[in-house]
Order: sequence, then C-alpha cells, then structure tokens
Amino acid sequence: MYFNRSNQIPRSAEVVVIGGGVIGLTIARALAQRGVRDVCLIERSAVGTEASFAAGGILAPQAEADRQDEFFELACRSRDLYPDFAGRLQAETGIDVELDTTGTLYVAFTERDFEEIEARCEWQATAGLVVEKLTAKEARELEPCLAENVRGALHFPRDVQVENRRLVNALVNSVAQSGVEICADTNVDSIITDRSRITGVQTTRGFISCNIAIVAAGTWSSAIQVGQSAPIQLLQTPAIEPVRGQMICLDAKPQLTRHVLYSPRGYLVPRHDGRLLAGSTSEHAGFSNQVTAGGISHILANANEISPAVSSLPILDTWAGLRPRAADGLPVLGPCDEINGLFYATGHYRNGILLAPVTGELIAEAVVTGLVSPLLAAFSPNRFNLAHVS
Ligand SMILES: Cc1cc2nc3c(=O)[nH]c(=O)nc-3n(C[C@H](O)[C@H](O)[C@H](O)COP(=O)(O)OP(=O)(O)OC[C@H]3O[C@@H](n4cnc5c(N)ncnc54)[C@H](O)[C@@H]3O)c2cc1C
Repeated sequence: MYFNRSNQIPRSAEVVVIGGGVIGLTIARALAQRGVRDVCLIERSAVGTEASFAAGGILAPQAEADRQDEFFELACRSRDLYPDFAGRLQAETGIDVELDTTGTLYVAFTERDFEEIEARCEWQATAGLVVEKLTAKEARELEPCLAENVRGALHFPRDVQVENRRLVNALVNSVAQSGVEICADTNVDSIITDRSRITGVQTTRGFISCNIAIVAAGTWSSAIQVGQSAPIQLLQTPAIEPVRGQMICLDAKPQLTRHVLYSPRGYLVPRHDGRLLAGSTSEHAGFSNQVTAGGISHILANANEISPAVSSLPILDTWAGLRPRAADGLPVLGPCDEINGLFYATGHYRNGILLAPVTGELIAEAVVTGLVSPLLAAFSPNRFNLAHVS
C-alpha cells in the first residue's frame, strides 16, 4: 500500500524503516520477503528522490580498491548479488533495471595514474581477482573514443553498472506489492525509547508504535533524535555528513562508449537510451544540492581528459546529490547495543547503489533472526561512542 499525505499513517507497525532511498527500500523488501508482515516505510518527501536518484549506478568495487579489506569483501559480495537481485526485481515488477555487464575500464593518463594501475593490477591478480592490463593501443581498440594520450588501462569485466533510477522504481513497485506500507510526505522527528527499548517513532503526522526502527535516512540520519523524554536522555547518534556530488547528463547517440570509463579524476557512464553521465565532484557544501559553474567545469575537464569527443555532445541535464558519509568513510550497519530494537543502515557514502543488495539481506537477517553476520562486524554503529547524553 502506498500512503501519501491524504491517507492516515498506521498507529503501529512491527518494523519501521526510516528513509525511502535505495537502502530503506531494499531493507523493507528483504524484510517482507522474510515474512515480516507489518513493515512501515516512512519517507519525508517522495521516495527515491535524493542520493539514490542522483547516483551514477557504477558497481565497481575492484576499479578503485587498493587492498582486500572488510569493505572490499562486502562490496564484492553485494556486486555479485546483483544479477539475481536484478532478475528477481524484473520478475516481480516487470521493470528491467538495465544491469549492464559490459565492464569497466580504469584509464591512466599521467605517470602517477600509470603507477597506480600497475600496483592495483598486481595485488588483484595475486589475490586471484579478474583483472586485465591493457596497453594504450589495446585500450583504444576496445574503446576508440579514449583520448590519444591514454597510457594504459585496467579492464574489470566483473565491475558493472545499473540504471539506478529504474532500480528505485522497481524497488518501490516490489515493496508496495509485498504489502509494506509506504508513508510519503512524513518526517520522522525522533525515535522514542523507554528504559533502553524502542516504543515508537514520532512523525510529523503522529506517533507510530513499534519495537524495531531502522534508520536508513541517508545524509539526514543523524538529525533523527533517539531517546526518552522523562527524564530526558538522548542517544549520541552516529554523525553522518553530506558530501555533494554533481553530475552532467550528455546526449550521446550513437553511444560514445560501451564500457564505464573511469579515471582517478572522473567517469563516464553510458546508458542504454543514449544518455551519457559524466561525474562527479566531492564537495563539503552543507546540505545544499545546487549545481555550480565550478562543479560543471571540473566535471567537463575530467570527462574531456577521458574522451575529447565529449566536448561536442549536447548537455541534456545537470543535478547534484548528497552522499551520506560517516566520520571514517565506512558504512554504518547493524544493531545499536545501547537501544534494543534500534538499527542503523546508513553512511553508504559513494557506494550505496553497489551496497544495497547486501545491506538489505544482512540487515533483514539481523532483524529477523537476531544474528549479525560477521561481514557486518567492521561496520557496526557501536564503533562510535553511542552513549546516552542528558
Ligand atoms: C553524484 C553521485 C553519484 C553517485 N554515484 C554512485 C555510484 O555510481 N555507485 C554507487 O554505488 N553509489 C553512488 N552514489 C552514492 C549513492 O547514491 C548513495 O550512497 C545512496 O544513494 C545512499 O542511499 P540512501 O538510501 O542511504 O540515501 P538517499 O537516497 O539519500 O535516501 C535517504 C532518504 O531518507 C529520507 N529521509 C531523510 N530524513 C528523513 C526523516 N527524518 N524521516 C523520513 N525520511 C527521511 C530522504 O528524504 C531520502 O529519500 C552516488 C551519489 C552521488 C550524489
């Protein structure tokens, strides 16, 4: 069911998911599929209109990784869930999320870039990962649009891409079909507790009683207060900051490239309908999601370095979104020790589209079974000091 401003919100739910981006939607779907019947997803505006709408949809854990750590393991696990995830979403909703498995080329232009790709190729090949080193000639044979001064490239056939806006649409349809109540235009102001247990969430449209609340509110997650009113005791919640990313959408018919083209400074993502996305910036500009002249010229310069052919393409659109970043840049995933029933699924920063399937699976599993996967250990919210403050 899809509730909007004209409908009543429910008075109680088994689980309340806060935030209707790709993370909240994926968790709600995974909960419903595990038989949790009374899931309510609350979104302060319209679902899927923030970072999840702004993203590029690149699913490329290998392209940028310099070591095999817990984050890399989680990201690869999620990428490898995508074929099944996309296939099931299509079966459930009829929506093709355009999972494109052509692969990613990570391209080098400077001496430093070249050293970087050599080192990356070496550790990944030693670790048994699929990566192929291409000479400049081979890279240009594969993608003739690459600039003539390209020095070499890494080909990551398993690093793929998805059309994230279609993904959000498919998730909304799947979630609505599975009986989750979606309450749009409803802000969660606070999560109310009593003796370290959740009693419900206070929204702009009333109180919803629940024992489990999952904070998946992206960049705005730390604005949601957690605590009890008498005596006043608030939880110190994980700090999430916004990192703005701007994007340009170009018109490339016929399409310029088949692969995602990635350099240390920018990327080009070809869509099936002829759009070509050029990204991005990484800015600390508060909660402003404005597109700026400086941002656009930065993206165009880096896109042009990858392929000078970009400069003759018409610009169709520009936008910006806010990536949710925790203090250490890692996602914040799992139950909070201080409050029974409180879970966080936020801080996905530059990788929320990539990490959506694994986040949905592991958070839903933890909620339903009480068992927290070892894969989540490094990302626990408890790594921050979540003590009560009066
Ligand atoms: C330009 C750009 C490019 C990117 N490219 C990629 C990429 O190629 N690959 C990749 O994997 N990731 C990429 N990302 C990152 C990715 O978009 C994010 O990590 C991901 O979308 C985070 O999803 P989310 O659901 O946590 O946040 P969001 O999509 O921001 O959703 C959070 C939702 O919570 C709602 N909300 C907030 N507060 C409340 C409240 N109090 N009550 C109710 N609802 C609330 C918001 O309205 C919003 O809808 C990119 C991001 C940007 C900006």
